[in-house]
Amino acid sequence: MILICGGSGYIGSHMVAYFQDKGVPVAVIDNMATGHAASVHGAKLYVGDMRDTAFLDKIFTENPIQAVIHFAASSLVGESMTNPLKYFGNNVGGAVALLEVMLRHNVKKIVFSSTAATYGEPEHIPIPENATMSPGNPYGASKLMVEDILKWCDTCHGLKYSVLRYYNVAGAHPRAHIGEVHNPETHLIPIIAQVALGQRDKLTIYGDDYPTPDGTCIRDYIHVMDLVEAHDLALNSLDTAPSHVYNLGIGKGFSVKEVVETFEKVIDRTLPKEIGPRRAGDPAALVADSTAAMKGLAWQPKHTNLEEIIRSAWKWHSQNPHGYNS
Ligand code: UDP
Repeated sequence: MILICGGSGYIGSHMVAYFQDKGVPVAVIDNMATGHAASVHGAKLYVGDMRDTAFLDKIFTENPIQAVIHFAASSLVGESMTNPLKYFGNNVGGAVALLEVMLRHNVKKIVFSSTAATYGEPEHIPIPENATMSPGNPYGASKLMVEDILKWCDTCHGLKYSVLRYYNVAGAHPRAHIGEVHNPETHLIPIIAQVALGQRDKLTIYGDDYPTPDGTCIRDYIHVMDLVEAHDLALNSLDTAPSHVYNLGIGKGFSVKEVVETFEKVIDRTLPKEIGPRRAGDPAALVADSTAAMKGLAWQPKHTNLEEIIRSAWKWHSQNPHGYNS
């Protein structure tokens, strides 16, 4: 059985669905701060705080857990700049408690959600894993701290880890029974969807004075189903391969303006938008060099076309305009 921490959030719920489709047993932990019980579709769900070691102990005692995939975290760059201690407390504290309990129960395999935000403003694009690590916000800093903690757990306890540094995850399950929902929403593609659904007046583009061709930020958008498949491959690889750190992106960057234009093409109408100030903590461009993951995990992202990724997101949003309350 695989324990999925943060399994009722956007990415975690797609991991749960992926394993359910494969017939692999899973248990889910979530504090439900941003998760949705409806998104785990019958998986065993434990509601509680990752920092509560007694709660975690009970779950490891009740279930034959062989490995952990750890998604549970606070994950908003903007919020981390206004409330940094929430990020260090939740993300670092939660990981330390989890590792403590894993070791106590002799569970020594973990896949950890890290982020491109660990690099900060990169010197070169695309970014290789050995680039300088200089996070520009507490969210990225908290994830980098956990990466370091994992390294020491391997050295001192033989715990095997896969650190996966995500770029911008987008899209939804092909059945569109699960998808991205945050409240309040802060992510670009779901915000554009809200504008398209008439739930928001307009999109505000956060800055058009970045050193990029059209002045707006460039990001590497990876489809959530490609992302979760990489987690499965990464977990399996730990049976024979050493602990590792891989970027997960598609290696192509798109500007905010390009994302909006592609969305408008998908829905065949233009959307109201304005240029606003920059958002604190946003680097100008983040594009992955994912060749190490492709080689090391024999992973090949299947959805490398932005229009296809946006179509997949739009299918979820248009069929579920009020998320899990639709
Ligand atoms: N963005 C924007 N307007 C919005 C939300 C996001 O211009 O309403 C920009 C944001 O500044 C960033 C990109 O879109 O450059 C992706 O942001 P998102 O929050 O989706 O993901 P992040 O890159 O922070 O993980």
